[in-house]
Amino acid sequence: MTIVTSPSGPAANARPFLHGTELAAIERVLATGQYGHGPETEEFEHDLATYLGVDDVVAVATGTAALHLALLAAGVGPGDEVVLPSLTFCASVQAIRAAGAEPRFTNVDPDTLCVTADHIEAALSPATRAVMPVLYGGRAVDLTTIATQLADRDIAIVEDAAHAFGSRHGERRVGATGVLTCFSFDAIKPLTCGDGGAIVPRTPEDARWLRRARLLGIGTPREQRTAAVSYEVHELGFRYHLSTLHAAIGRVQLAGFPAVAARRQQLWRTYAAALAGIPHTTLVDLDIENTVPFNCVIRVPSEVRDAVHAELHAAGIQAGVHYPPNHLQPAFAPWSRPLPATEAVASEILSLPFHPDLTDDDIGQITTTLAAALTGPSTPLASQWGGR
Ligand SMILES: *Cc1c(COP(=O)(O)O)cnc(C)c1O
Repeated sequence: MTIVTSPSGPAANARPFLHGTELAAIERVLATGQYGHGPETEEFEHDLATYLGVDDVVAVATGTAALHLALLAAGVGPGDEVVLPSLTFCASVQAIRAAGAEPRFTNVDPDTLCVTADHIEAALSPATRAVMPVLYGGRAVDLTTIATQLADRDIAIVEDAAHAFGSRHGERRVGATGVLTCFSFDAIKPLTCGDGGAIVPRTPEDARWLRRARLLGIGTPREQRTAAVSYEVHELGFRYHLSTLHAAIGRVQLAGFPAVAARRQQLWRTYAAALAGIPHTTLVDLDIENTVPFNCVIRVPSEVRDAVHAELHAAGIQAGVHYPPNHLQPAFAPWSRPLPATEAVASEILSLPFHPDLTDDDIGQITTTLAAALTGPSTPLASQWGGR
């Protein structure tokens, strides 16, 4: 068997990067006959904990499942509010709704697309039970200035670190700062299991609860269950375990991750250099020294954003918009509130193709096409600002 190359080309907005040994790992696990939660999953958890420098990691089926379970572990439920940026993938919001709680949407800093401690502090209410910073693009979010206030008010921090595996928060990795951190290992995340996710628990109690909840609330350990005539269901549970087949992919990806992380940083810097000379563009600041970049996002004047997006697509370049604000989504209308700053920045953002298979030539072509699209005849910038 060989691994077929990804169907989408270098100009894809994002795509998985394979090391080539994933298939052998899947075959090895297939031969064991254990495909649900199993020893391979536990090995992956152990590998993740070692990499992150933490005591324990709980693997689950998806990043969304990680967020849902982390919120429940933090005691979030009906009647509670969870503060999060409107500018995130809808999964963050659906996880809050799945817990029965209410999203309280807030703005982000337009330079980083991340919330600041000030945004969060301003959105707190007596009903706030948790805050969910989204580590946009992989950048760590620093809430140390309000950490004591949050702890005093019994408000948990549940990090949506779906973009941020491998990034650093000062000396420590994201995930090693003592809060509930959730990672995604879906197809386009820098580390993929095909589909997968993980939670860094705060305490051994968190870990015990999470391990039960991901396996339908069954309390009897796996080793004892096969020998016993019964098992005990202790509480509410979900089918959220990570299969051994997905874990096998994840272990190969983790072993090769340092090279992927370095490659992503290098590509982002290549983009930064190429974009520096292009007028009307601002690169979203990822704190590249400390970040394994998930994406490369620029802001362009809102009046030309859609035309530039269309021109890039016409040239075969899959630019994207991450994300349409959630406070404007029909499903979340009951929790909508005016967030003009979010709407302004959301009308300016454009994600450029970003994945490890890009070459410097690809980036050269993409940025040349972008520069032409920004000042070309079909955009108002050419006449308005003289097309500099
Ligand atoms: C990918 C992603 C998720 C959800 O992860 P899945 O593994 O796809 O369920 C949540 N939040 C953000 C910001 C994401 O990008």
